[in-house]
Amino acid sequence: MQTRNGFSILALAAAAALGLAAGLLVNSFHHASAAPAPASAAQAQPPADGKLRIIVFGAHPDDAEYGAGGVAMKWARLGHHVKLVSTTNGDIGHWGMAGGPLAQRRTKEVLEVGRRLGVTTEVLDIHDGEIMPTLENRRIITRLIRQWNADVVVTHRPNDYHPDHRYTSILVQDSAYMVTVPFFCPDVPHLRRNPVFLYTSDRFQRPTPFRADIAVAIDDVIEPTLDALLVMESQIHEGGANGNPNLYPSDPAARAKRQKQVRENLANRYARAADQYRATLAKFYGEEQAKKIRYAQAFEICEYGSQPSQEEIRRLFPFFGDQK
Ligand SMILES: [Zn+2]
Repeated sequence: MQTRNGFSILALAAAAALGLAAGLLVNSFHHASAAPAPASAAQAQPPADGKLRIIVFGAHPDDAEYGAGGVAMKWARLGHHVKLVSTTNGDIGHWGMAGGPLAQRRTKEVLEVGRRLGVTTEVLDIHDGEIMPTLENRRIITRLIRQWNADVVVTHRPNDYHPDHRYTSILVQDSAYMVTVPFFCPDVPHLRRNPVFLYTSDRFQRPTPFRADIAVAIDDVIEPTLDALLVMESQIHEGGANGNPNLYPSDPAARAKRQKQVRENLANRYARAADQYRATLAKFYGEEQAKKIRYAQAFEICEYGSQPSQEEIRRLFPFFGDQK
């Protein structure tokens, strides 16, 4: 069903016909420059136009956006096809509201983030806090990677504070390699080549700390990226599951103060990444350029996907050398 907001809601019957698990409701949005929004997520394949195809899985409607938002915008600006998927609907991710209304609110937020970044967004209708590394879910993830015909797949590392982050990572890892096996989920054509699988950065130390194999400057897109991310008011301004009503009061002056503060916090997050992963930035941009980079995002290469050469990394991340 098409609404004027660009929401594409799949009926269950359509989902079943498309080979998606019954009961999976998908909200997907296709940015304005794309062809008319297709009737289904399965048909929402990027054209075979020689451009890169990237799919990012986050556990909640904000994780893929934080982890890859800036780089996603850089890819999108070059005409590459990026899809951000939330594997749960985020329906317990707030201190004061829950259930369907929160899932709808958060879906609307990330659809708008996606529109601003120039990417496609999809939210799977699995309850927040309840995703499990099941065979059924492995099939869902495998199909999504195949349907996107992905060159690059990005997700959380498997050791992370939130069970949904851990199990989303496990599900994506379990789909690496299996996406190439013809008789696993034979209803969706298998990939001829295992994509490159990457992890987003995190602070966790055990069993191993995050290793920045690839780091990308996002200075050129930092302002529009922050503008896009700040659309997620339920999470950023109101504080999500651990927030409280005092964080974002109705008083306009207090609101303005909070908006300024959360924008700075978010910018600092990417500034810290630039400092922390400057050695990796230097590898790709050269020492002199790397010193000038203020904001960055970094990725670790997963062992279960294709192992890219340095040349292949530069093909998949066509950004190095564009720092002025
Ligand atoms: Zn999360």
